[in-house]
Amino acid sequence: NRRFTLAARPQGLPKDSDFLLTQDIVPPLQEGEFLIRNHYASIDPAIRGWLEPGGNYMPPVPIGDAVRASTIGVVELSRHPDFTAGQWVMGLNKVEDYSIGRGDGFTQPIDVDAVPSPTAYLSVAGAVGLTAWFGVEDVMQPAAGQTVLVSGAAGAVGSLVGQLAKRRGARVVGIAGGAEKCARLIDRYGFDQAIDYRGKDVEALSADIAAACPDGVHFVYENVGGACLDAALLNLAQGALVVICGLISEYNSAPQGARNIWQLLVKTATMRGYLISQYLDRFPEGVTAMAKLAGEGAIVYDEHVEDGIDNALPAMLRLFDGSNQGKMILKLI
Ligand code: NDP
Repeated sequence: NRRFTLAARPQGLPKDSDFLLTQDIVPPLQEGEFLIRNHYASIDPAIRGWLEPGGNYMPPVPIGDAVRASTIGVVELSRHPDFTAGQWVMGLNKVEDYSIGRGDGFTQPIDVDAVPSPTAYLSVAGAVGLTAWFGVEDVMQPAAGQTVLVSGAAGAVGSLVGQLAKRRGARVVGIAGGAEKCARLIDRYGFDQAIDYRGKDVEALSADIAAACPDGVHFVYENVGGACLDAALLNLAQGALVVICGLISEYNSAPQGARNIWQLLVKTATMRGYLISQYLDRFPEGVTAMAKLAGEGAIVYDEHVEDGIDNALPAMLRLFDGSNQGKMILKLI
């Protein structure tokens, strides 16, 4: 069993020496357990937080253990009444060839015939898709006449958030890095306007947002933090809702914080955090909805698949240099 193992806690951007590719023998199954052959692992920004000594909303990955990740795979052996050999499952496991499932947490069977590729359960119909779905349909519920500003907009979550918000009739403005991603926001994901954040400070970004959102921003869907959030906070409409989905610009450094939190008070805005795990009991609803939209071609989604467990770290680093072209997924078999 090859495992992408944490050797040292990263300082700043993760590097080669922080990880080891280790091998072990899978222990015999106990009653209530099943053996999963992982086919794909989801490489998520959240993994960076789980490598910190304090973890973040989950315990830290212990040094010497394989790195935690959502995976999809096929059950090879089962001593669990609800899981049978040959069945596809998704779950929060590790970047490793084989994981032992216990049917707890996020683990659930998946219907791979309902989607174009099983990897959809790590992208559009996985945690990323559900984050977008509940963020738009439950947390924000934007309507016609309202403007949604999405940072990290060309990414896995952001691209879906923009499309779902557009479907509700909202005006959608996205912030992304580089001309190519900005073009993709408009041409492929149907955003109304795109802002390139690269090389801009808070003032320049704020001016761009003001130009793109003349009536102010009713919903900030924040994936990035730092200057992006700071600039968004300078452009809130009265009664705006600021949704903090993620703060990726701060994951490899000490928090920079946002200078303009005061604006929340002035504009009587609400900043609200949420986690996809809050919606665990509504996952089937979200999976059905997102798989249906994707199946009908009503929304598009992109996946960036890197091949082989040897590429786990390069795949992770792409999330931080922006060279992932869609949901970052590691192919293990
Ligand atoms: P993405 O596919 O969006 O990949 C990450 C992207 O972030 C990169 O492509 C890059 O795009 C951008 N980025 C990286 N570093 C910076 C930086 N310093 N400044 C600005 N942009 C940067 O990943 P995901 O869609 O999986 O995740 C997006 C966000 O959603 C993350 O913050 C993540 O933590 C959060 N999230 C939260 C969940 C929740 O339950 N609340 C669940 C899932 C994800 P670019 O080229 O535009 O810079």
